[in-house]
Amino acid sequence: MAHCVVGEAEKILDRKFKVLDKGFVRLVDYMGSDERIVQAARVSYGKGTKTYRRDKGLINYLLRNDHTSPFEQVVFTFHVKLPIFVARQWIRHRMARVNEISGRYSVMKDEFYVPRLSDIAFQSADNKQGREKKPVPAGQAEKVLAILRRDYERIYNDYEKLLGDNIARELARINLPLSLYTEWYWQIDLHNLFHFLRLRLDPHAQREIRYYADAMLRIARKICPVACEAFDEHVRGSVRFSRKEMKALRGILEGKTVALEGRAYDLFVQKLGFDPRQESAR
Ligand SMILES: Cc1cc2nc3c(=O)[nH]c(=O)nc-3n(C[C@H](O)[C@H](O)[C@H](O)COP(=O)(O)OP(=O)(O)OC[C@H]3O[C@@H](n4cnc5c(N)ncnc54)[C@H](O)[C@@H]3O)c2cc1C
Repeated sequence: MAHCVVGEAEKILDRKFKVLDKGFVRLVDYMGSDERIVQAARVSYGKGTKTYRRDKGLINYLLRNDHTSPFEQVVFTFHVKLPIFVARQWIRHRMARVNEISGRYSVMKDEFYVPRLSDIAFQSADNKQGREKKPVPAGQAEKVLAILRRDYERIYNDYEKLLGDNIARELARINLPLSLYTEWYWQIDLHNLFHFLRLRLDPHAQREIRYYADAMLRIARKICPVACEAFDEHVRGSVRFSRKEMKALRGILEGKTVALEGRAYDLFVQKLGFDPRQESAR
């Protein structure tokens, strides 16, 4: 039968995977599975799935060699509740279909993102877009939360006041902050989901969107575990080296000194996961 029903996916349909303090990801529906990827890839010669081992080999072959179109045959619809600042980053992924709650039509709920104490950190010294891994001292984190909560309350009271004066919802909402929660239905195929996940699971992505990406990968694993394992292996776990870096890598293997310097060397070390100069000094 071509229609794919995945027992593990059926169990989690409609279940909310909690993210942040008030957000969630919920799988509304899915179409296809690992089996669909294989069916689509083999359609050219009219043969469906074979053995598990051969299907797994095929899925890995496809992903390793960028034969991506069979992965587009698997589709997910998620219902996501997320702060607007996360939504701003998320919406940049254009290869998806979205329906978002309308602040012109509905009264926005009194729901703002309040970070955990452990997520409050100083500006990163080496990443202009990021924060340090270590949280700030507890006392300072409490002060940050107090400021956020104070402003949320004041702003929401003003919003309600404007609504109470019958000011249009589309105007009353313009003062609401980026921390306000919004909701949307987000439909995407597996190829584009992997693209999203590669970018948004990366340590360079903002921590909050990473939590959402992590929840979505957990859900996707239920539907197409083999493809997700192939993603771990060939996409997420792989590293892209530039031509100069490849030259340096070959040099290391031949026992030569690495010609890269400064920032280029730092990036190379980051990708390798060790510092070859320190290794050779041992
Ligand atoms: C860590 C991080 C930091 C970022 N920082 C910034 C920032 O500071 N400022 C900022 O503006 N953005 C930033 N972005 C967003 C980033 O530039 C991309 O817009 C976002 O990651 C979506 O990627 P995408 O376009 O590949 O995805 P999608 O929109 O899902 O597109 C997928 C692929 O489809 C193709 N595609 C889609 N639409 C078109 C099109 N119209 N024309 C041609 N090809 C198309 C492209 O090949 C694209 O890679 C950041 C992203 C990350 C992950």
